[in-house]
Amino acid sequence: MANTIDLHTHSTASDGLYSPTELLQYAHEADLRILALTDHDSTNGLAEATEAAARLAIDLIPGIELNTDTDDGEMHVLGYFLEYERPAFQETLKVLRDARARRGERIVELLNEQGVDIKWEHVREIAQGAVGRPHIAQALIDAGYVQSVPEAFDKYLRSDGPVYVARRKLSPLDAIRLILSANGLPVIAHPLTVPGMQKLQAWLPELVEAGLVGLETYYGPYTEEQVQQLHDLADEYKLIPTGGSDFHGPGIHPTPLGGRFVPFEAVERLKSEASKRMGTNPPEFVLPPTDKE
Ligand SMILES: [Zn+2]
Ligand SMILES: [Zn+2]
Repeated sequence: MANTIDLHTHSTASDGLYSPTELLQYAHEADLRILALTDHDSTNGLAEATEAAARLAIDLIPGIELNTDTDDGEMHVLGYFLEYERPAFQETLKVLRDARARRGERIVELLNEQGVDIKWEHVREIAQGAVGRPHIAQALIDAGYVQSVPEAFDKYLRSDGPVYVARRKLSPLDAIRLILSANGLPVIAHPLTVPGMQKLQAWLPELVEAGLVGLETYYGPYTEEQVQQLHDLADEYKLIPTGGSDFHGPGIHPTPLGGRFVPFEAVERLKSEASKRMGTNPPEFVLPPTDKE
């Protein structure tokens, strides 16, 4: 059976290669009927995506992917059916993005102080959206200081290195609460990639308690066995098994757009859950102050 659903994709609003319009056009060519755009820490592609989707008769689910950190590793949280125009939600996203951008700028300043001549403007050009250390690594390659990204990290950017700047951390629980504050549905992305099965199992009770709704089960490269494992875990916690390709552009991830079969039931269950919340007053979310930055 041909797949018509992809619930995990990125555009130029974060680190994807295609603009939202190009992504939707590409989805149309791949015969997809239902697409979620889930850019990192940003909903800035959603208005354009919604317009393009309407033209192409694709059902667009407004989404996001929030990167979170704990002392014990990362976790990515997807949010679906967001009422993303809520001002408080947008303000929080902006604070998170600005903190990340300022961190990049500070790292470049420190590099400059050490005599490394790369330009902040160039790093921003490379990044398009949120600036991360990989973009600074690329600028170091472009300026001829290193040959590769690993070398850039090893020589300059590693976390015990000379120019490390701690980043503003969003905890997994806060990511869930932030999504709930826009009446969205929080889902753990690629659970076996990060955080991994062990941590996932340890963290799940608390995450479910905080309002987690789903587990990304049908993820890009996961094997049948891994899918089954995640499906069982989702059932155990009454979570909705979702899925998608994590498409960033051709050739960036192993799975092509729409390349992972996602059962229609996943969308039905998300929709039914979303319809209960739509337009109701969501719980407020206040970003906790940064501790050690
Ligand atoms: Zn991710
Ligand atoms: Zn992703």
